Amino acid sequence: MQSKSRSMHFITKQVSSIFLLMLSGWVYAQPNPQSIELSKIVPIADVHMHTYRQNPRSAKWWHEMMDANGVMWGGAVGDYREDVQAELGNRYIPAVGQPEFFRVFFKDGRSGLTDPENETFKDLYARSEILFKEGKIKGFGEFHTDNHSSGPPGIRRSIRTDNPAMRKFYEIANRYGGFVQIHAEFDGDFEKDILNLSTDYPNTTTVLSHCLSTKDTDYPAAILSKRKNIVCELSSLGAVHVSLLNIPRSPHAFDSGGLYRNWIKFIETYPDQVLLGSDPCCGIDAAYSEIITELRSNVLSYLSPVTIEKVANKNAVRIFSLKNN
Ligand SMILES: [Zn+2]
Repeated sequence: MQSKSRSMHFITKQVSSIFLLMLSGWVYAQPNPQSIELSKIVPIADVHMHTYRQNPRSAKWWHEMMDANGVMWGGAVGDYREDVQAELGNRYIPAVGQPEFFRVFFKDGRSGLTDPENETFKDLYARSEILFKEGKIKGFGEFHTDNHSSGPPGIRRSIRTDNPAMRKFYEIANRYGGFVQIHAEFDGDFEKDILNLSTDYPNTTTVLSHCLSTKDTDYPAAILSKRKNIVCELSSLGAVHVSLLNIPRSPHAFDSGGLYRNWIKFIETYPDQVLLGSDPCCGIDAAYSEIITELRSNVLSYLSPVTIEKVANKNAVRIFSLKNN
């Protein structure tokens, strides 16, 4: 009786470990040796690198962090900082508008965010026009239009992305071949809005932050498949952010076991429209090296060598007209 129950227990254990193996085979893929080696050394363009003013790291600190991690270019989200621009030169991807967008939200609420006559926005339109003309900025962002369930609770909100204030940002960017980086989550309204904006302003590239902050790659795929001038970036989708920020859910796209199969398939289907980002937000900038290491070992190494180079830097070089210093 005892030995029978022991063997039953053994069989149950075997079955459950086979099941776990099948499950991990379904979730995880194995990287190939060539991809692993390339991922360690490929230069990176970090298109979600916040250099906040309010919790300032010196421009030199950013420069050293980038050098230490093989990050050749960084930025594409706020805050725009002239000292960082002076320090990094062509390695900076300068964007304006994030602090102003927050200021309007906190002062005038959701209705302020859609009003092109808002004084803060009017100043920003005028200032950005000058900066574009001088070649000092390349775009706008990060604009949180619909982050109702992502990001810090105090800044959560939802507005229509296609609104008169946003159209003005797209119109300015369109004249300079610039970009707008948007943090949003997928729904029917957002899909409709972003497709309309990208049709009406074909020279503006939309960068979707965090590839829409989702586990479901069908959402970014639904949009990327319909427009060449919409791309997405992979920041905050892995285990490092979940753990450092105590986010009460599992990672969306990658963990120490690697890049999830649905994300590999998604990126290999749209290799010209996916970029890398670190998102050292919310006081986790000290973990910059850990974040970049995660991108190299748990994201890039699971892609084909051709796709690795595109996602790591070639797409960004093309979209943001990046140059070596
Ligand atoms: Zn961000």
